[in-house]
Amino acid sequence: MPFTKITSNIFAIGGSNLSNPGDAMIYLVKTKSNKLVLIDSGIDSLNYIENNISDTGNNPIDLIALILTHCHIDHTGSAHSIKQKYPKVKIIAHEWERSALEGDKGTEKMIAADWYGVKYNPVHLDIVVKKEEEDINLGDTIFKIIQTPGHTPGSIAVIVKDDNKKILFGQDIHGPFMQDFNSNINDWHKSMKILMSKNADILAEGHYGIYKGKDNVRKFIASQLRQNGF
Ligand SMILES: [Zn+2]
Repeated sequence: MPFTKITSNIFAIGGSNLSNPGDAMIYLVKTKSNKLVLIDSGIDSLNYIENNISDTGNNPIDLIALILTHCHIDHTGSAHSIKQKYPKVKIIAHEWERSALEGDKGTEKMIAADWYGVKYNPVHLDIVVKKEEEDINLGDTIFKIIQTPGHTPGSIAVIVKDDNKKILFGQDIHGPFMQDFNSNINDWHKSMKILMSKNADILAEGHYGIYKGKDNVRKFIASQLRQNGF
């Protein structure tokens, strides 16, 4: 049963302890109309994703969307195989990650595939996020997408409400900040202030896992800010 239940309809189904060792966290949201949305996808983990979705009592055939929080391969590598097997799944990401995700020449370093010694299979974006903040309705559940540049230019965070709680998906809040990624530490500082202001009840982070309670969410973000000199 390799998954963690976060709220009634939100699960962690991937990550270094739940799927492939190199995977960033993969989160699953069951929507109000009983459809399924993934937030990030791991490096090459379709089998794990399918098995772990089944273990939560759901069926991968109900997948309708995959939100990619940024272009790095530990979050995006399985997107291609998900789209091939489940063509109805809408792939969603920010405009500023599009060229890397769609495999444009010269963007290879931005994907960080060589960090993991694997090849990235590009994927076409079906929904492109362009605003600083926008609500996307997927299966009758609102996914609030927040532009949070810093780690990469087109990084996004996502907020979903469940069990009367605000769950913030902040994949790679912690960085790192690298020239190859076009990271910008001052943009990141502003992004973290925005995320702090959202007063989330739960933080679902990309590598550090799940923080429950407003205080613990604030403490995690504050500690990251301190470590980076803010
Ligand atoms: Zn990353």
